[in-house]
Amino acid sequence: MEEKIAVIGAGSTGLFTSIELARRGFSVSLFDRGIPGSGTSGRFHGLLHCGARYAVVDRTAATDCRAESERIKSIAPHCVNSTGGLFVALDRNDEEYGEELRLNLNRCSIPYTELNGSEAVRAEPNLNAVVRSAIRVPDAVLKGRRFLLSALGTCIAYGVSFHPFMNLLSAHDDESGDIEGLSFENRIGGGVHRASTDFVVNCSGPWIGQTSKLLGHRVEVLPAAGVMSVVGKRLTSSVVSRMRRPSDGDILVPYGETTIAGTTAAVTEDPASFEINEEDVGLLLDEASAMVPQIGRLGFARSYASFRPLVKEETGSVREVTRDFRILSYDAGPRNVVNVAGGKMTTSRLVGERTATEVCNALGVRKPPAGELRLIDPLDDIRTVEAGAGGDNTAIERIVAEMRGGTDDEDTNFVRELAALVMKWSGAG
Ligand SMILES: Cc1cc2nc3c(=O)[nH]c(=O)nc-3n(C[C@H](O)[C@H](O)[C@H](O)COP(=O)(O)OP(=O)(O)OC[C@H]3O[C@@H](n4cnc5c(N)ncnc54)[C@H](O)[C@@H]3O)c2cc1C
Repeated sequence: MEEKIAVIGAGSTGLFTSIELARRGFSVSLFDRGIPGSGTSGRFHGLLHCGARYAVVDRTAATDCRAESERIKSIAPHCVNSTGGLFVALDRNDEEYGEELRLNLNRCSIPYTELNGSEAVRAEPNLNAVVRSAIRVPDAVLKGRRFLLSALGTCIAYGVSFHPFMNLLSAHDDESGDIEGLSFENRIGGGVHRASTDFVVNCSGPWIGQTSKLLGHRVEVLPAAGVMSVVGKRLTSSVVSRMRRPSDGDILVPYGETTIAGTTAAVTEDPASFEINEEDVGLLLDEASAMVPQIGRLGFARSYASFRPLVKEETGSVREVTRDFRILSYDAGPRNVVNVAGGKMTTSRLVGERTATEVCNALGVRKPPAGELRLIDPLDDIRTVEAGAGGDNTAIERIVAEMRGGTDDEDTNFVRELAALVMKWSGAG
């Protein structure tokens, strides 16, 4: 018998969890109150981490990123721009951190090369001329929307049934206290949609505090807001990071024809009421212009924000909470639930794989994955889909609106075509 699994949340975590479950022969239904990318995954910084950023502060996260960034380059080459990354030292403190960084890059087996100041400026002519030294690492740029759409297309190819605009309302228990069904508010068709299920995997990102309660468990997260600001010009060829402990405003990502500066990190009480303030944008401008002075003259074209669902731990500041992920399963209460929180876009395939293993363990079944995983390229399908043709235009307009204001905001035609594709793949277009 194929067990029925409901996955809540179609961000990168839910998409890869669905793929890995479907590859193991489960019957998977994927629900989102919006679409892939209407949460954090559509509003990330654009960086495929090689692990260097975390090498000093979180070695597990660093080694996971090193392995997974290479894996993504091989399973989804169409989603990656292998720009390389440059950690730049602008002062003596940065250089001191550089010693610690080199030591830990070695420990994490992350390859690097060293550049002196003039070599760094030759490699990146827009860098601040005061640069003293630099370390080149294999960071890369991940084309966010294309990555999510590729993962969704791959889900569909593995037989996952995808349900956009379904907002989880409640769970229904059977006599043993396990969940046997879920109710969703249908945000497009109206009314309540009911789905029966044998197991629920909750991948609702920063909303997991609320959704885990609906599923009978409590997951404590720190919603930490991160602001990113976009310069309307590509100013570097590689990702540029400040050579210091991870901190606010220390990364510049060359994303398409733009440069994205970020990020900030501040715990917020309520993500729904978060507003970007001038102070955050001013800080990003100061930090970004210290690395590339031209940014101070050009200013930012726009800013956007998203939230890290950091699992709450008894440590001091937000920056010290691990970027690692948690897969939480239960022996009591509803036992057929797994809550998944944390991680990065870079490590979402790994999170999906480990979650699928956890589901197999909880169900007491052994199901190895079928074949080699490779993500399909949605561009082939896009060419065959006329935006809006034969589909529900209201739904498409709604998708376009949900996609607005994130990492991939510059190409509106592309967004419209992708919206038509999302509807087609959900069986509604
Ligand atoms: C500021 C910032 C910058 C980042 N930059 C990077 C980066 O450069 N590189 C990197 O690798 N990682 C980065 N990350 C991390 C990365 O973005 C996330 O780890 C990744 O997107 C994982 O997303 P997710 O699927 O867990 O959550 P999300 O993408 O938020 O997905 C959760 C989904 O659940 C849905 N949902 C919520 N509630 C319900 C409900 N009641 N019913 C149904 N569906 C629901 C939402 O609509 C959403 O689509 C960044 C994170 C932040 C905050």
